[in-house]
Amino acid sequence: MSKTKGLIKTMNDDKYYSRARPVDVRFHGVCYYCGCEAESKFEDFIPQKIDIEFYLQTKEACPFAIVQCCKECHYFLMNCRSAVIKDRKKYINKSIKRKYGRALNIYERWSEDEFEDLSDSIIKSIIAGMKIGKESDDRIQFSGYEYEIDGTIHHKNEIEVKIYQVFGEEFDDFRKALQYASKSYRINITVLKQRLIDNQIDFDKAIKTYHAELEQKLLEKQIDKLSKEFALKHKQNKNFVKSALSAYIQINPLLSMPQNLDLIYQERIKKLTTTESKIIKPS
Ligand SMILES: [Zn+2]
Repeated sequence: MSKTKGLIKTMNDDKYYSRARPVDVRFHGVCYYCGCEAESKFEDFIPQKIDIEFYLQTKEACPFAIVQCCKECHYFLMNCRSAVIKDRKKYINKSIKRKYGRALNIYERWSEDEFEDLSDSIIKSIIAGMKIGKESDDRIQFSGYEYEIDGTIHHKNEIEVKIYQVFGEEFDDFRKALQYASKSYRINITVLKQRLIDNQIDFDKAIKTYHAELEQKLLEKQIDKLSKEFALKHKQNKNFVKSALSAYIQINPLLSMPQNLDLIYQERIKKLTTTESKIIKPS
């Protein structure tokens, strides 16, 4: 084992690799992973040279390819030990998201038509963030290109085109879907984004649960307000009226709140007028 190791170390490692050449000349000099300008001194060796021995010994599937790559992707890949091109692309996308997360957020969050009331300096910094965010997004979306290794054509990275649905409207871009949903369904974009994270990027579900909770809050507010007024008018305990009203709403969902309160009055208070006390006590 140590003998093999020593042997490999003394050889020129590059001999194990074949260069992946873009089929379309327009991609010569383009980073396979992100579409930026590639630099010859930052090529990506798959697998990493330190893993050559492992792949030679185990005969694990491995392309032994040299792929055109930009300086930053090369830097990102320094800690990626996968020899699967698709996984290396995923690793780069994660790294871009991590490094440019703030700019990506600005790009997702803002559109030019919202600049109206902002100061010039704020607009300037948002535009700068949007520019970096868009570049980062383009890099993430870049799906590579067809390339040839020793006469065999390899197809480009099949990045699945994800379609985002917002109640029947289709978008092939998360940002467009997010901005459309935020405007159409009147949800703050940051709040909506968090809801999407909580709901596995299901727009319909995120919007529905948000509105349902909003409705519930409004309902509770209204119950509280009407119960307070009713309790004061009929000299009742407010908390009890509140729980009675909530129960009546459940039983008589077709009646309005004032109608339910009227029913409470008829059934629970008026009948007691002949008794000693009109106060309803919780049972
Ligand atoms: Zn790159």
